[in-house]
Amino acid sequence: MHKKLFIPGPVEVSEDVLQKMATPMIGHRTKEASQLQKSISEKMQKVMYTNSQILLSTTSGSGLMEGAVRSCTLKRAAIFSIGAFGDRWYQMAISNGIEADLFSTEQGKATTPEMIDKALSTGKYDLITITHNETSSGVMNPVEELSEVWKKYPEVVVCMDTVSSMGGTKIEVDKLGVDICITSTQKCLGLPPGMAICSFSEKAIEKAKKVKYRGTYLDLLALYEYIQKKDYQYPSTPAISLMFALDYQLDKILAEGLENRFARHIEMAKYTREWAKSRFALFPEERYASNTLTTIRNTRNINISELNKQLGQRGYMISNGYGNLKEITFRIAHMGDTTLDDIKELLSAIDELIK
Ligand SMILES: *Cc1c(COP(=O)(O)O)cnc(C)c1O
Repeated sequence: MHKKLFIPGPVEVSEDVLQKMATPMIGHRTKEASQLQKSISEKMQKVMYTNSQILLSTTSGSGLMEGAVRSCTLKRAAIFSIGAFGDRWYQMAISNGIEADLFSTEQGKATTPEMIDKALSTGKYDLITITHNETSSGVMNPVEELSEVWKKYPEVVVCMDTVSSMGGTKIEVDKLGVDICITSTQKCLGLPPGMAICSFSEKAIEKAKKVKYRGTYLDLLALYEYIQKKDYQYPSTPAISLMFALDYQLDKILAEGLENRFARHIEMAKYTREWAKSRFALFPEERYASNTLTTIRNTRNINISELNKQLGQRGYMISNGYGNLKEITFRIAHMGDTTLDDIKELLSAIDELIK
């Protein structure tokens, strides 16, 4: 039996979107391929609220995270981490020989404007990374507030991980002054895994031009230049099947209406949080609780893998905690095309099992 996914990626994918991946293949050096990539890029600009060029990468989100820090750090990167995915970005910098410092916040809490100001005022950094939605702790950073600070430092390239939030909550990339905003297909966009997408600003382009060793496959400037030179093509062979599905799903997302889509996510988040608070407790500080997934403190000490086994027999799957939060939390994703009715159905099934 298929288990409906309530895990923070991959998410449940609609049948019609899956079917699009069975579209007959086209050559990646054809006009049709250019058309397909261009169409995806224009629609992604709407979802991201940006006029920057959109880049596609045949990797998961991690690929563009690594590519961004490597391609655009000239001096030194300041990595702001609120959990496992922020820490991973620091590892990526270090393992690529990029000079970087890690600024960590206690799990469950958000990055503060003061932290960013203090780091950037040293003048040591020309790139920062921010996690918009930390999928381990379930914290959504207050990026509007934070952006007021990084906007004071116009020489700094701002990279933001929106892997588990873009398409599920409003993120106005240009207004926030984000230069490289990264997401991937298998979370709020509601597609199978396999591609990453980012915006790439003029500032990021100019910075990358000065960086000598940007690598090859994950060189963001190479992706950008190929689009310019070859009219929306990709340097190597992209995941064309996924691109067919992405183009189609973006039509569906825009037809739903972005505001409607964001409102649906907020409604699901509120319902899940109320449920969590009355049975367990929220892990994150409530004012920063994510709109796309809820991380719940396992105050009743229930056996999550046993619960998941029983949920599996009923056709559902939730997620245990991530990393060092594995034993003390569990996670319910409410992202992508999931509806409030799906969430109600899941939560009442859990209620029956934990009675
Ligand atoms: C899932 C996730 C990633 C990793 O993305 P992949 O597409 O699996 O490489 C990075 N950051 C966040 C916040 C995530 O949720």
